[in-house]
Amino acid sequence: MRKCKAEKLNDIFALIAQDMTLYLPVDTEGGAAFTKWNENVKYSESLNTVRSPKDFFFPQTENLMAFKTEGKNIEIIDTRSETEDFAVFGVRACDTKSFDVLDRVFLSDPVDSYYANRREHGVIISVACTRPSETCFCTAFDIDATSPQGDISVWKTETDVYFEANTEKGAALMEKLSALTEDCDNTAVESAKESTKAILSRLPLKDLKLSAFGGGKTMELFENEAWDELSQSCLGCGTCTFVCPTCQCYDIKDFNTGNSVVRFRCWDSCMYSDFTKMAHGNNRLTQKERFRQRFMHKLVYYPENNDGLFSCVGCGRCLAKCPISMNIVKVIKKIGGKTNE
Ligand code: SF4
Ligand code: SF4
Repeated sequence: MRKCKAEKLNDIFALIAQDMTLYLPVDTEGGAAFTKWNENVKYSESLNTVRSPKDFFFPQTENLMAFKTEGKNIEIIDTRSETEDFAVFGVRACDTKSFDVLDRVFLSDPVDSYYANRREHGVIISVACTRPSETCFCTAFDIDATSPQGDISVWKTETDVYFEANTEKGAALMEKLSALTEDCDNTAVESAKESTKAILSRLPLKDLKLSAFGGGKTMELFENEAWDELSQSCLGCGTCTFVCPTCQCYDIKDFNTGNSVVRFRCWDSCMYSDFTKMAHGNNRLTQKERFRQRFMHKLVYYPENNDGLFSCVGCGRCLAKCPISMNIVKVIKKIGGKTNE
């Protein structure tokens, strides 16, 4: 483990930014947002960014390729530019875990080369939580907010910043930071962890139980009457899916620029009425079906196909942002029934 004085953190940022683009959370009018570092930006201590770091690896829109036609010939143009190395500092434990969920989708055969390329070039520097909020429930998914597992884990105390590399990429970056850091033991970090664990043990959602969910529960939960009531007020706005660090649905469209046709993809939402609409019509005709799909996917279908891993990390963003105050916790409590009484 290495450490530096808290007032040296900006020097650490400057050193990282010498070799790669560095992004970190910065307070803005709309809440904390990952922003490109320069010496005038100030690192935000806020718990979580409004949008998750998913954006760096799976951006909201991206061009995939372009086509040009001449007579019967089609020329396919690779529109990708070389991805540069980059680092994202300040990724919380929940968001760090979200990459396990995304990796299983995008890095499984056939590998999504666009995502894979960014994962290869990106370094995740995760920061341990010290003030978890009342909307946090990462503990329900066995995530330890005091030990985030990025390429590098960082712990901040009032006086010092502690670093531990977890991967080769992380170790290489720490090597570069060696002139500004020094070896240390983990006494202060363990004490910081204990203080945060005391807060975590008092959070209102600490006892949220997921035992009613998981693989193999489709038949049991699909026809549950509570879906009617839960979905009744859903506006289908898609906000919950767009702020979610683990949602990964997208659409692919072609756009005629006049000079060529550009094929791009953009985030989509299972909450939208035209999601997966095909020539024959739509698979899910009601908001109830669409709403049920979102939560069944996170709590039943995904774990069924991914060794029990849920595709929610308890970040709390949907609790904070849904305009009708509907969220996954309400679903877990209502559908989970007695396990959460
Ligand atoms: S479903 Fe909600 S709490 Fe779970 S990861 Fe997505 S935004 Fe966060
Ligand atoms: S649950 Fe809330 S945020 Fe999600 S689509 Fe419905 S109204 Fe919008």
